[in-house]
Amino acid sequence: MRLLIAEDEPTLAAQLREALAAAGYAVDVADNGRDAHFLGSEEPYDAVVLDLGLPLLDGLSVLRRWRADGRTMPVLILTARDAWHEKVAGIDAGADDYLAKPFHMEELLARLRALIRRAAGRSSAEIACGPVVLDTRSGRVTVDGKALSLTAHEFRVLSYLMHRRGEIVSRSALTEHIYAQDFDRDSNTIEVFVARLRRKLPPGFIETVRGLGYRLACPE
Ligand code: CA
Repeated sequence: MRLLIAEDEPTLAAQLREALAAAGYAVDVADNGRDAHFLGSEEPYDAVVLDLGLPLLDGLSVLRRWRADGRTMPVLILTARDAWHEKVAGIDAGADDYLAKPFHMEELLARLRALIRRAAGRSSAEIACGPVVLDTRSGRVTVDGKALSLTAHEFRVLSYLMHRRGEIVSRSALTEHIYAQDFDRDSNTIEVFVARLRRKLPPGFIETVRGLGYRLACPE
């Protein structure tokens, strides 16, 4: 899962980047509205944290432009404390959720997990596929109840596939959703991660759909 943080306050932006990376997300940061609008228009984010008070282009305008252009990714807006009118304007502009500053990082993480699950059509915090279960709250993956030890990149690949279980996910989509923008991407490494995951998962769990990508085999 890949996130965009649009926040101009350097300390908060750094805290967000650190907390979200620790939670297993690939993270891009924009410190002004113009860059945020550009990145959100070009890159396939799984969710966006959007401060409304941004330089160059305010957050509300950024959000309105995305929605007018048909960009549907979940957006959580950060508003000033007690500014109820900002929340109303934000939701009217197409925000999916909001948090007033200052907020607890745990609450932001929980709200983002819920937004990402809902966007993938899942309401439960646990996503199961056969014997494999991803607990989106803890970031733990178990197979038949036993915890699986995964590297950060392996986790991102598996988490994305679990959120899209039953769908064919192309290698390029995986690449776009597991790396931050400044990362030196190489789609061949996706095959390496998938090969490593396969050694840790039940046989046949990750299917290769020739010429199209990967799909999780989930018996109902
Ligand atoms: Ca701000």
